[in-house]
Amino acid sequence: MNLDSQQDTGGYDIYLKKGSNESSARKVKFWQHHVVGPLQTNCFVLSNTMTEAILIDPGGPEVKGIASDLEKQGIRITHVLVTHGHFDHLAWASEIQKVIEEAKVYLHHDEKDSYEKFYDMMHFFGLNKIDHLSEPDVWIKDNQILNLSGLKIKVIHVPGHSPGSVIYMLEEEKDAYVGDCIFRNSIGRVDLPFSSPKKMIQSLKKVTSEITDEYRLLPGHGLETNMKAEKKHNPYLIALRRGMLDQLLL
Ligand SMILES: [Zn+2]
Ligand SMILES: [Zn+2]
Repeated sequence: MNLDSQQDTGGYDIYLKKGSNESSARKVKFWQHHVVGPLQTNCFVLSNTMTEAILIDPGGPEVKGIASDLEKQGIRITHVLVTHGHFDHLAWASEIQKVIEEAKVYLHHDEKDSYEKFYDMMHFFGLNKIDHLSEPDVWIKDNQILNLSGLKIKVIHVPGHSPGSVIYMLEEEKDAYVGDCIFRNSIGRVDLPFSSPKKMIQSLKKVTSEITDEYRLLPGHGLETNMKAEKKHNPYLIALRRGMLDQLLL
């Protein structure tokens, strides 16, 4: 069962290494990483204010416990940023809202027509649909700057894996939450309903020019990486540079 990566990265059994957040931990005051849900989604919590927090990708029922544990520590998840509308990134936003009613869900505008259909795909994965899918509260767009929880976050629209896929870029911290656009040594699948290989190629061109080598990349699944390593080792980015990605994807 693999909804995400273009090829098996072999990385699904090992996740972000403990202590691998050291550099970022110095920059973002509060930072947590969890692996959640049936498709082992990377879910992150970030805050610079220590009173309100951002959660990226509520990909499993565990987010309810994460939200209530933090609530007890005085940290309230007020913003839920979703990298794209696939159920393994969005579907459990409603579980957070059960704990914190006012938590707002952010999704890119171009996922308006697809996110409910992705939710229906849960059946094909042999999963029971959760009782309620949250309607996103904030429809975001390319290049939008979000100032949330004391952090400045730039939205980069990267359609391909899905129409409304985005990267959340923290320019000051040099962290990029890349969702299912890029993985360590791989890229997101482009053979799913609403995927577009052509758009993926354009998005990867945009990503490799906008996100510089020193950025840490935090993908939707599997291990973290950085742009320098991916430009060097990722077969899809190597093919892109050589002008041969069309042959791999189209
Ligand atoms: Zn995913
Ligand atoms: Zn996905």
